[in-house]
Amino acid sequence: MVDVKDLVKSYGSNHVLKGVNFQVEKNEVVVIIGPSGSGKSTLLRTLNKLEEPTSGSVVIDGKDISDPKTDMNKVRENIGMVFQHFNLFNNLSVGQNIMLAPVELKRENKEEAADQAKRLLDVVNLSQKFDAKVQSLSGGQKQRVAIARALAMKPDIMLFDEPTSALDPEMVGDVLQVMKQLAKEGMTMVVVTHEMGFAREVADRVVFVDDGKILESGTPDDIFNHPKNARLRSFLEKVL
Ligand code: ADP
Ligand code: MG
Repeated sequence: MVDVKDLVKSYGSNHVLKGVNFQVEKNEVVVIIGPSGSGKSTLLRTLNKLEEPTSGSVVIDGKDISDPKTDMNKVRENIGMVFQHFNLFNNLSVGQNIMLAPVELKRENKEEAADQAKRLLDVVNLSQKFDAKVQSLSGGQKQRVAIARALAMKPDIMLFDEPTSALDPEMVGDVLQVMKQLAKEGMTMVVVTHEMGFAREVADRVVFVDDGKILESGTPDDIFNHPKNARLRSFLEKVL
């Protein structure tokens, strides 16, 4: 599903990714952990070309996105992205937020898009909120709407960039619960998070990024119970 080879990303003299090789199989849940500023978001953002690689190749679903001939709009339709700060349209209702991309980009008819939006609101446990204003929602509810909105495009893969980092602690569990359910249903997922409990429980594989490189990768048991890399060990001592 994802095949990243020798990915380098620099901003001028700031070398953010220093040769990353990263693969994700269909139905796999990969959790990326690592210190702040290590390049996790940049790696995620290059997967849908929100960032242009300096060098290296990124193949998504068999399509080489570094090839200028690749239709990125088509590729992006199959990649759902959920950000720390939701990025919902505050002037639209919950339902309108979820329907927007299917109607505008996929030309789905409005009734079908509305039915689907209601089904997705059930999935994220917000069935009563179709007509609600975005401003009236809590952070945890907004994030679940953002997940529903991403799912409305029927993506093959979902990317999550610290989806619970901006939430009050009591809201974190509801969002993680929805993500866990998605994982259980076989969604291919790449999740950047500091929620080590989620990583342990839900990840098929955990990847440790530090200073622009993947320093270790393995099962949750490998990473949390038998870490080899010294920097991973010291990172875990700080966060666990
Ligand atoms: P993380 O998500 O692991 O905290 P990031 O990928 O956001 O790390 O950032 C890694 C490094 O890249 C940081 O040093 C950051 O300042 C730098 N960086 C990220 N985006 C940009 C940008 N658009 N321009 C310049 N530097 C950037
Ligand atoms: Mg980040």
